[in-house]
Amino acid sequence: MATMLRNEKRKLRSKVKMEQALSRQNLYQQIMDNPNSQLFYRLINRNRSNQQTSTNCLKIDENYNYVPEEQRKSFAKYYEDLSVPKENIYENGYLNLCKIRQQLYEQAIDKAEDPEQFTESEVMKAIGKLNTKKKIIDCSKRKSSYSWTMGGKVVKTSDCSEHLGIKRTDGKEHNFNIKERIQTARRTKYALMGSGVHGTNGLNPAISYQIYKTYVIPRLTYGLEVLPLTKSNIEELEIFHRKNLRHLQSLPERTSNAVVLLLLGALPIEAEIHKRHLSLLYSILSCDNSKIKDVMIRQIATNYDNKKSFFSRILNILEMYDLPSINYLQKNLPKRDIWKEEIKKKVNQYWNAQLKSEARNKTSLKNMNIENLEIGKTAQVWNLQNQPRLELRKAIIKARMMTGAYILQSDKHKFTHFVAEPLCQLCNTENEDIIHMVTSCPVLSTIREKYYVEMKMEILDNIDPIKWNTFCCNKMEITQLILDCNNFKETLNISSELMTKIEEKCRNLLFQLHAKRIEVLDALNNK
Ligand SMILES: [Zn+2]
Repeated sequence: MATMLRNEKRKLRSKVKMEQALSRQNLYQQIMDNPNSQLFYRLINRNRSNQQTSTNCLKIDENYNYVPEEQRKSFAKYYEDLSVPKENIYENGYLNLCKIRQQLYEQAIDKAEDPEQFTESEVMKAIGKLNTKKKIIDCSKRKSSYSWTMGGKVVKTSDCSEHLGIKRTDGKEHNFNIKERIQTARRTKYALMGSGVHGTNGLNPAISYQIYKTYVIPRLTYGLEVLPLTKSNIEELEIFHRKNLRHLQSLPERTSNAVVLLLLGALPIEAEIHKRHLSLLYSILSCDNSKIKDVMIRQIATNYDNKKSFFSRILNILEMYDLPSINYLQKNLPKRDIWKEEIKKKVNQYWNAQLKSEARNKTSLKNMNIENLEIGKTAQVWNLQNQPRLELRKAIIKARMMTGAYILQSDKHKFTHFVAEPLCQLCNTENEDIIHMVTSCPVLSTIREKYYVEMKMEILDNIDPIKWNTFCCNKMEITQLILDCNNFKETLNISSELMTKIEEKCRNLLFQLHAKRIEVLDALNNK
């Protein structure tokens, strides 16, 4: 009977857990499909609410209550006691104090003369004086001591004020605002961390990135299109942005910048700000206000070479992304969604080329297929079904290995300026690089045999063995296949369905090798 009860309880618990996981999955799916601020707060609130509803122990009058039933009774007694009026047990000191206070009030009221009578207009005038929010920022080089008045009231001068969420100051506005943006974005990121928007043991990086993109990036870049940012400002934002993206993917600091973005299909912050420039330009071009249009025409004519002007920047941006000129747009303005689509296409195209060419030059990425990565698309390594935690951990190890961020003895040799030995600590026969670990190290051979054979079978079931023997015959090629099977997508003609299967097998193989290696190294170190 007891075992039956226990089993049933266990079943119930697992069912509840499953339901919870399902509802969590649902929420993430909704965020992926249609992110909005309502979902954001649901996500945050879900983590704030405490799962535990019962208190372990309650101490009342030196009694310890552990059972909820007893706790309830103690509470009831406590409140009953509070609600019953009691005589003669006032604290006399406090009572006297209250009495003295009351006497003082009475005396004050007796002595006071009739209160002054105010007219309505006098009250309104006084209220008008209370409104001191308006400030003047003196931006002239030689600050004047002129006092500014508005409607007879003196308006204060100040060196900093906020307008529409952007700090306006008498100089270096961009620096002030960048700091503020990063702070706000960081707070948002911290708020999201409880939901699993972080690396190890968190959510699948693809989902994390979607949440980050929807809730953090807009706060990071708000209003920045109207400010003249310097290169160092942009770099500051970029460092923060890349750090977050590394974090989401559990990739270490040394991972190449380009690949951190490419694996998630993410744009750099500079591009995100450019997109906002272009959408502001559209708003200006499409508005009916003739004054704004006059200002625009004058600004283009007089300020085209002033780097601090929005219009000078926008001219450069249009050229950079190979978009039509302002003149052309004034005459043939496309529909908003067509323009948005065009911006997206051109911006992605530009950064795709830029980031890929940066990645191609990195030796650490030589085992990866760069060409297959694309802005706006998540890399295959993060394509995980149902995101069980263990699969994610395996994928993280794989991502580190393919980006060259997984430290082996030969890497240590380089980092320590040749102090550390490059020799494999497991077998002492060869230098330990990724090829040695994946294909040769004899200490790992049992593990390798088991999982490698599984993977090879999967391929040979679907692909002509002659092809396999032609294209995938040496150790380097096999390593490249295991690290990133996209390397052989064309040559072996692998279907995308098979690709998913191979990816899973390789993920597992690499993880098992990693686990064994750590195990052996730990044993050696503890000797
Ligand atoms: Zn070895």
